[in-house]
Amino acid sequence: MIEVRDLEVRYGSRTVARVPELDVAAGECVAIVGESGSGKSTTLMSLLGLTENADISGNISVCGLNVRTASPRALRTIRGARAALVMQSPQAALSPTTRLGTLMRRALKLHKIEADPEAAMKAVMLDPALLRRYPHEISGGQAQRFAIALAIALGAEVILADEPTSALDVTVQAEVIAVLRRLQRERDLAILLVSHDLALVSTIADRVLVMKDGEVVESGPAAEVLADP
Ligand code: ADP
Ligand code: ADP
Repeated sequence: MIEVRDLEVRYGSRTVARVPELDVAAGECVAIVGESGSGKSTTLMSLLGLTENADISGNISVCGLNVRTASPRALRTIRGARAALVMQSPQAALSPTTRLGTLMRRALKLHKIEADPEAAMKAVMLDPALLRRYPHEISGGQAQRFAIALAIALGAEVILADEPTSALDVTVQAEVIAVLRRLQRERDLAILLVSHDLALVSTIADRVLVMKDGEVVESGPAAEVLADP
């Protein structure tokens, strides 16, 4: 679902991320780990063409679409429905005056997709009654799961998650991760996760890439990479 070759992202004369190879298949979870500033977010955002003012070279394919040569329209479809971005504070991205249910129905209509919002809420273990609430009336963990529910309703095949749980307390983190793991198995989702939290990564990732100063310094099966001292 994701295929990256020889990716290089530069801001001005500075190369901030270089990724020779990154593949995520359906049903697989790959994590990018590394210290703050190592280029993780830049790599993730570049996959959806969301790095502003960056110079990008290399090949990026997401859901079969060549992201670097795709039309704005094709990119919007990929970003809006097939490859969903789940970020640290999803509440900030939601319109404060729109109820969650309205928001979800609008997104479905925009992409001409028929799906049951209540079923999507249940799939992420959220009470469908929350659809009547406004974004500020739900917790951070609920907002994260709502972002995932939205992706599910839209039929996303890929989830790109940037530090999806770092704003949450530990029990809520575990809930969000449990939801992601279950969906990964049941719906064959491809998940690319960016995180600095190795404990979290070890519970969900099949493979891990370690970035340092913009370079991939290690990659392989999660158990091997994370076992290293
Ligand atoms: P990480 O996600 O690992 O914390 P980032 O990908 O956010 O790292 O950042 C990698 C480097 O790229 C950092 O040094 C950051 O300052 C730089 N960077 C990120 N976005 C921009 C931008 N829009 N313009 C210039 N430099 C940026
Ligand atoms: P994170 O901690 O998630 O890596 P940052 O705080 O590094 O996030 O960056 C937040 C935002 O600021 C991002 O959109 C990133 O692109 C932008 N950014 C980061 N570093 C720079 C920079 N040196 N110049 C311009 N924008 C930057």
